[in-house]
Formats: sequence, structure tokens, C-alpha cells
Amino acid sequence: MVRTRIAPSPTGYPHIGTIYQALFDYAFAKKYSGQFIIRIEDTDRNRFVEDAEGVIFKAFEWFGLTEDESARKGGDYGPYRQSERLDLYQKYALDLVDSGHAYYCFCTKERLEDMRKVMQSEGRIPMYDKHCRNLSKDEVSKKINDNITHVIRLKILEGRKIVVNDGIRGDIDFDSNGVDDQVLIKADGFPTYHLAVVIDDHLMKITHMLRGEEWISSSPKHVLLYEFFGWEQPLFFHTALLRNPDKSKLSKRHGHTSVKWYQEQGYLPEAILNYLGLMGWTNPDGKEIFSLGEFIKVFEMKDLRSVGPIFDLKKLDWMNGEYIRQMSDEKLYNRITNFIGEEYDKQLVKRTVPLIKERIKKLSDYIPLTEFLFKRPESYEVELSDKKDIFKKVAENLDRVGDWEADIIGESMLKTTQQLEMKNTEFFMLMRLVITGKKISPPLNESMEILGKGECLKRITSLT
Ligand code: GLU
Repeated sequence: MVRTRIAPSPTGYPHIGTIYQALFDYAFAKKYSGQFIIRIEDTDRNRFVEDAEGVIFKAFEWFGLTEDESARKGGDYGPYRQSERLDLYQKYALDLVDSGHAYYCFCTKERLEDMRKVMQSEGRIPMYDKHCRNLSKDEVSKKINDNITHVIRLKILEGRKIVVNDGIRGDIDFDSNGVDDQVLIKADGFPTYHLAVVIDDHLMKITHMLRGEEWISSSPKHVLLYEFFGWEQPLFFHTALLRNPDKSKLSKRHGHTSVKWYQEQGYLPEAILNYLGLMGWTNPDGKEIFSLGEFIKVFEMKDLRSVGPIFDLKKLDWMNGEYIRQMSDEKLYNRITNFIGEEYDKQLVKRTVPLIKERIKKLSDYIPLTEFLFKRPESYEVELSDKKDIFKKVAENLDRVGDWEADIIGESMLKTTQQLEMKNTEFFMLMRLVITGKKISPPLNESMEILGKGECLKRITSLT
């Protein structure tokens, strides 16, 4: 049975990279009729943000990455919130102390800080100097009885080769001399990520553990923990981080890391998922546009790429536009009204959908393009005050139009162009400006039909 998990920390709106990984977890679990789990990793109390958990679940819902087990849904292997599992971590940490694979450390912050400074000044990578490793049992008991602040550390023996087998990258070798005696239980009694992730993945029966490549350097500690506990390890997959076009890690500074930003920009969740799928993996069919269902059918974790994909917003824009064009008018109308809110006349919005479908890439393009239908332009992109005679003539002709339909409106305007002996392009550009305020707009005749005769004439005559 395949079981995958995503383990977000409740520190705010989910990062797009979390969705990127969750997509693979979800697709793989669904492909093999397994379970996809959302575990909340809330043991870092300094980074904890109230309500972030709710926001995380909403984001997963928006993408349709529905979990089988989670902190909100429950399941057979709960609790799924790490802060509710503290006694478990304690128990397992003490087991490691008993078996000689972990030890109490009573070093003060000041001592650790001094040690770090010395190491740095000597050009060494700061690591714990194992000061407390060889305290006798009596010394340890005495210090604990005296309530001396302590942590529990992993005991890593020198001179060992540790092999991390990664499903994407193959075997990665580490020398244990370069691996720190990691804190497992902090002074506040909370576990560190390293201890909690191993215990949880094991107890939750995770079979395929996928996470970002930033965790590769920690993975030898996890491999050792599995070994010390005598547990079978899940298969590890470390995905390549999403990168900016300049190859730097996709970061907040570039403004597009938060799922919220994508929602506010009017990207469609299905288009984002499609794009993220392409970022990490190449479709064997060569197809660029595919639904989540199709993705699930063809995706294999081992095909994930190990090199950092470049996150190219222009490509996402293109893809989003493709999804918009493929959507039925009805569906697009629903998406648009959800996006723009209640203040716009729904009937009017409905009529505009066929006009703008080919012209928008994101839902946020809708209002700038159609605003003129909801309110009269307040300014014009080009000076129109010297065109009064032209507008008088158009208004006169349009006033005579009986059936206010796009084709007939167009014919009337064409006739006016001829009467005025103007170039079509010049004339229609002027008309577009009068009606919409802008040089670029949805098709003019259709827009005028939607606006209605009275309103069009008002806009034209206000300039005469
Ligand atoms: N809580 C970790 C994070 O947010 C999860 C890492 C993992 O998937 O193991 O980065």
C-alpha cells in the first residue's frame, strides 16, 4: 500500500513549492490507490502562526489535492499534528538514550555560542564538540534531579560511511565525521524536525517520503535514526527546488512564492498544477497540457528531475490562458464572478464572456479589459477634443439604427467612415477610444451591442 505525506509547518500561507511537492505525493498515492496524508509540523513554536493551519487546508482544497488523513480529518495513525504527539517523541528519545544512541546534553547557550565562535575563527564548520557525550549515568541523574536545563542529542559515531538512497538521485554517501550530534529533544521538551519526522513517517506507515532537496544534508541523521530504531526506511525522494530565472531559489523577494499571490492574480488551480507537474517531470507523451487525472495515470516518482526547474511566469500565463480558452463559457463565467465579487452586474458579465475568452490570460485581466462596460470611461488614452465633427456624424447615423445588433452597428459605422472619407483603421480606433477609453479592447461592435444604444450615444455625444 502506497502512503505519501506532505508535512507543512503552520507558518503562514503555503509556499508554491509545498504545492509542487504535494502534487507528486498526491498523484503517486492516487495512482496506486494509496493514501495521501497531510501532517502539520508545528513543533517550532517560534515560527508558529495562528490560523495558518486553516489557511493551509483551504489552499489544498482550492487545488483539489484532497487528503485521506490529516489533522482535520483524522485517520488511523493520528494525531496528525506534531504538538499533540509530544509524549511519543519523548518515549522514543528515551529509548535511544537507553540503547546508547542518544545522550543528555547540559551545555549552556553561552558555552555553545563560545564553542561556535572558536570553531568559526579556526575556519571550521561549527559542530557540537561532544562535551556531554561521556558523562556518567550518575552525573546525568544528578543534573536532571537538579533541574538543569538539557537537551537530548543523537550520538553519531565517527568514521562511518552513511549511504542515503534517493529515488531520484541514487546513492549519496556521507562521512559520519561531518554529521553533527543533532539535538533530538529541545530544552522546551519539543522534538526537533529530525526526530519527529522519522518517528511520524514510521508510525504513519509512510512508504514514499518526498521532500525538498534542502533536506538532503540532514538525511544521514534520519538514516541513522531508522537504523537505531530498527525500523525499515521509506523510500526517499528529494525534489529539486523551484528556481527563479536567475537560478536563485524561488523566494519571497521575487513576490511569487505564496499560493495567495497566485489566487489574487487569477491563476486557475488546475493550470498551476499542470505547470508544476511540468516543472518536476517530463511527460512521456510529450504533451504539455494535461489534467490532474491524466497526470496521475502517467506519473512515476522515479521520473522526477534532479535539476532545479526554472519557474517561468510567462509560461504559466500562457498555460493559464490555454485553460481559460478550453473552458466552457458557463464555467468561465462562474470563475470570473467568484473572482471579481458581487459588485458587478452578473447578467452583463455573462454576456461578456465569449468576447474576452480569447483575450485574457488570468482572471485578473478581466476587469481592466471590460471595465468600460460597467462604467463610462473617465479619461481617454488619446486626446479626442478635436474630433467633434466626426462624433456628430457617427451619432447621427447610429441613432438611425433600429435593431441594435453588432453587425448592423458595424455596417452603420462603416458607412460613416465612407461618408467622412476616413481610413477604417483610424476611424475605428477613434470609436474604440470613445466607447472604451482605451486603444485595446474586446471586439468593438459586440461591445457596443452589449452596452446598448442609449449608452453608446451618450458616450459619443458627450464628446461633441
Ligand atoms: N515541515 C517541513 C517543512 O515545512 C517538512 C519537511 C518534510 O517534508 O519532511 O519544510
